[in-house]
Amino acid sequence: MATGKINVSVDNIFPLIKKFLYSDHEIFLRELVSNATDATLKLKHLTAIGEAKVEYGNPLIEIKVDKKGKKLHVIDQGLGMTEEEVKKYINEVAFSGAEEFINKYEDSAKDAGIIGHFGLGFYSAFMVAHKVEIITKSYQDEPAVHWSCDGSPNFTIEPSDKKERGTEIILHIADDSTEFLEDSRIRELLRKYNKFMPVPIKFGTKTETLPKPEGAKEDDPAPTKEVDNIINNPNPAWTKQPTDLKDEDYKSFYRELYPMQFEEPLFHIHLNVDYPFNLTGILYFPKLTNDLNIQKDKIQLYQNQVFVTDNVEGIVPEFLTMLRGVIDSPDIPLNVSRSYLQADGAVKKISSYITRKVADKLTSLFKNNREDFEKKWNDIKIVIEYGMLSEDKFFEKADKFALFPTIDGAYYTFEELQEKIKANQTDKDDKLVILYASDKEAQHSYIETAKSKGYEVLLLDSPIIGHLMQKLETTKEKISFARVDADHIDKLIQKEDTQISKLSDEEKEKLKADLEAVFGEKSNYTIQLEAMDSDASPFVITEPEFLRRMKEMQQTGGGMFGMGHMPEMYNLIVNTNHELIGEILNTKTAKKKERLINQSLDLAKLSKGLLKGADLTNFIKRSYEMVK
Ligand code: ADP
Ligand code: MG
Repeated sequence: MATGKINVSVDNIFPLIKKFLYSDHEIFLRELVSNATDATLKLKHLTAIGEAKVEYGNPLIEIKVDKKGKKLHVIDQGLGMTEEEVKKYINEVAFSGAEEFINKYEDSAKDAGIIGHFGLGFYSAFMVAHKVEIITKSYQDEPAVHWSCDGSPNFTIEPSDKKERGTEIILHIADDSTEFLEDSRIRELLRKYNKFMPVPIKFGTKTETLPKPEGAKEDDPAPTKEVDNIINNPNPAWTKQPTDLKDEDYKSFYRELYPMQFEEPLFHIHLNVDYPFNLTGILYFPKLTNDLNIQKDKIQLYQNQVFVTDNVEGIVPEFLTMLRGVIDSPDIPLNVSRSYLQADGAVKKISSYITRKVADKLTSLFKNNREDFEKKWNDIKIVIEYGMLSEDKFFEKADKFALFPTIDGAYYTFEELQEKIKANQTDKDDKLVILYASDKEAQHSYIETAKSKGYEVLLLDSPIIGHLMQKLETTKEKISFARVDADHIDKLIQKEDTQISKLSDEEKEKLKADLEAVFGEKSNYTIQLEAMDSDASPFVITEPEFLRRMKEMQQTGGGMFGMGHMPEMYNLIVNTNHELIGEILNTKTAKKKERLINQSLDLAKLSKGLLKGADLTNFIKRSYEMVK
């Protein structure tokens, strides 16, 4: 038996390994299964090119738990190692890899929080084992070897009588890691990290029911047999060519990825490049709600079919983290911090490639099946609007397919909309005013007023639309958005100078004083007297566009600073040309005047949905009095 000392300068590397990778102990299994996979695929390659004269067969990787013996076995049928190779790859190379890793990350490791993704490889076994054995037989005609190491830098190496080609790694699980002796925990880890690895992975057996033999009686039990329980799908959809997949294949892969998700995806995008970087994957557009926060972190990142993380921040542009699916790339550096990742050239290219593919897919869906695209718009708009806001390249493309739905269910692109409304909705300063509502029910009376003028009203209700309007107003020329209740209709789109008022200046002063008397001092209404059509409403409550939009934008991030605590501000527009106003002015009894004003004001509030609580109760009482 040969003994030796692993040649490293860090005296005892194992406590360090344990310490650094504390939060991520479970990845040891991924590392060992990855090594077993590499060994199997290397043999496949060597047999394919005629270098190895052995039968490749149908190799498996097997994981076995020996709870009594406190051991975990990882067994492969790959190329194995000779004694020379064990010395070289395990004692020298792997260990120096571990040492290098620790030297490099000693300082940054603690705050980076994401170390442990690749780099430690084989030695990560010591995070959970107090002793590790390797029993391996090379595909070359050489004796098998048995390597053993107890966690100190001392190892032993001796011959073994292993007959079959391949490697068995035996972990003697440490007392603080006995969770890894539980079948359920191992199954969970294999599903998490190895679900799509390219070599079949066996974990135990399962009972399969066979068809009944011919002539079997009605109540004969169906025959069963024990078969290998293979936990992975070695050929996941993203590794195939798009031309070999049907729509149904993409859908069933989606179900495989998200077994608890019952809703079908709206469409998919197959990613497939090999130059200047390597990337494959499938992204899905799920049905999205209007809540920005609940839908992130559903994309899984793989490296050569090994699961790495479901946090793709920095790799995929922020707005696309709302999508689902898989990205697989060997070119993404994984053991670095996120801020480093964002500055990495390859990662930047990957990110812009993904953005472009998504934009192209949307363009073709829009062009090829507009009707279907319109149907899906409300479920995908949040991603597109977010993308337009955050990525200028995406904005350029999306500007041609982003849709603006109207209250009546028509969908226009920006250009179409402009064409449609420019004759009627251009104001006296040659500015195109785009009217919208955010709630069809709540803003009903304002919508009706706008429609009666022949104006088109959009229905824009996504939480970030305010930001997008702001962006459109600054990138396009001479346009502005205004919600239907932002001002009274003649002011929203001002065409010629205002009408002449029926009231004299004196009367106006008096009216204002009358109204203020009823309102009291501390109201958040600004009274604004306007000469309008005599058949327009006598009182209208409006909410100035700018302030309201800023407030809304601040709730979803951005917008103007410090507006979060501002109260709602309203304008009370009083149509001085309306008959009722004249009546209020001419009423002699103070009581009756007050009642008229209160009643009118309540009606205005009611049509803006502002009449609530005691005010509403009083209004109802007063109204009954009046109809009596
Ligand atoms: P890496 O996989 O990044 O090379 P590891 O520390 O995981 O680093 O493994 C070190 C080396 O040990 C591998 O490169 C390989 O040569 C050898 N090795 C590890 N596990 C096996 C195995 N199951 N079969 C054959 N060789 C292995
Ligand atoms: Mg490895």
